[in-house]
Amino acid sequence: MEEIKYKVFGLHNFRNIPQVQQFLSEEEKFAIEVVGNVLPFKANNYVIDELIEWENVPNDPIYILTFPQREMLSKAHFDQMADALKAGKNKKEIKEVANEIRMQLNPHPAGQMEHNVPMIEDVKLTGIQHKYDQTMLFFPQQGQTCHAYCTFCFRWPQFVGMDELKFAMRETELMVKYLQAHPEITDVLFTGGDPMIMKIDRLKMYLEPILESMGTHNVQTIRIGTKALGYWPYRFTHDNDADEVMELFKKVNNSGMHLAFMAHFNHPAELKTEGVKEAIKRIRATGTQIRSQSPIMKNINDTPEAWRDMWKEQVRLGIIPYYMFLARDTGAQEYFAVPLGRAWRIFQKAYQQVSGVSRTVRGPSMSADPGKVQILGITEIHGEKVFMLRFLQGRVANWVHRPFFAKYDPEAIWLDDLKPAFGEEQFFFQKEWELLEVNPN
Ligand SMILES: *Cc1c(COP(=O)(O)O)cnc(C)c1O
Ligand code: SF4
Repeated sequence: MEEIKYKVFGLHNFRNIPQVQQFLSEEEKFAIEVVGNVLPFKANNYVIDELIEWENVPNDPIYILTFPQREMLSKAHFDQMADALKAGKNKKEIKEVANEIRMQLNPHPAGQMEHNVPMIEDVKLTGIQHKYDQTMLFFPQQGQTCHAYCTFCFRWPQFVGMDELKFAMRETELMVKYLQAHPEITDVLFTGGDPMIMKIDRLKMYLEPILESMGTHNVQTIRIGTKALGYWPYRFTHDNDADEVMELFKKVNNSGMHLAFMAHFNHPAELKTEGVKEAIKRIRATGTQIRSQSPIMKNINDTPEAWRDMWKEQVRLGIIPYYMFLARDTGAQEYFAVPLGRAWRIFQKAYQQVSGVSRTVRGPSMSADPGKVQILGITEIHGEKVFMLRFLQGRVANWVHRPFFAKYDPEAIWLDDLKPAFGEEQFFFQKEWELLEVNPN
């Protein structure tokens, strides 16, 4: 197929976008500049021409998803950067202001940097995270960027040039050694950034060694976590290596392993273009199963209708709904956070309106330090209003699937905000978890 030209937009050239010139005021453009100097900003011609409905801007969900919003920074931080820009400070000074603000935005939530970085042969494997027994995360160094950036993204420190914070790993060889040393691992999840940003040669370099070493480890599923279907579906249809990518997907599925494509879709608008529908068809034709996941975020998808429509449309297109997440405690979380109680009510309402084949979805769930915690419901027990919770994944395998209770709190947005119910001092996992904190592994 004829290649479709990929055009990137960001801080340096967004003012040239015709729709920006037509639909945004000078004040709105300045706000983008202020926030975009602190948090990453990247969009492309597909997002701008085919996804955003500019007549609805500034309320269009895909616009809010990709263009920096004034309220993503506190007033103090916003003013600090606005003043620096107005004063005409040079690049280096702007960067210093930006870094100062960034450090106050909890760049590494849930102990991402310190914990779960494994070792092999005395080498720290900084591109690997192995937190839950069966699944190893791999961050290929060449996949540490995306086709466009989501404003809510918790991986934002990777994109703003704070190099020392970057997870990266060159050696696939060490990854295979690690898999061989850990027979409990059945799933390798390629994540990023977005691994589908990589060209075919890189993708092969990372995937083929896992296939070639089959029999020396127990990997059965290779997962690719990607936003490319939502942000650049032409990756799978029109890019000049799209056919080879499809061949590689087939090769994985014919090898005796399964390729699971974890698609990040945040809003039903991302499922409506011809481009995405064609890409989904092609990927499925390789034997690859597509599953979907997304966080729930204020002003983007915090209605039952958005989720109902998303799940229904996904199932129609052959995608299995997998996770609804809660926004991480980092970056612009205050702007995007939906309180736990409200998220659960939205989830429940959407769930009630879809058939069983959409009810494969689990959530709302938060990836907190002790594990992935799902809100199962809000109820009353002996006159006390409580959240019912459980671990979907836990730092300790034995915590998984054990129900537990927290006092209901309408404001709570994260696990840290919750207190045990029924007058108990601690959650059941807390002692063991604190010991792990002192002495990991
Ligand atoms: C979510 C997650 C996984 C995968 O969990 P599944 O329940 O198997 O989808 C693996 N590792 C980490 C660190 C995760 O956050
Ligand atoms: S696609 Fe994923 S990793 Fe990339 S900016 Fe969006 S949420 Fe972050």
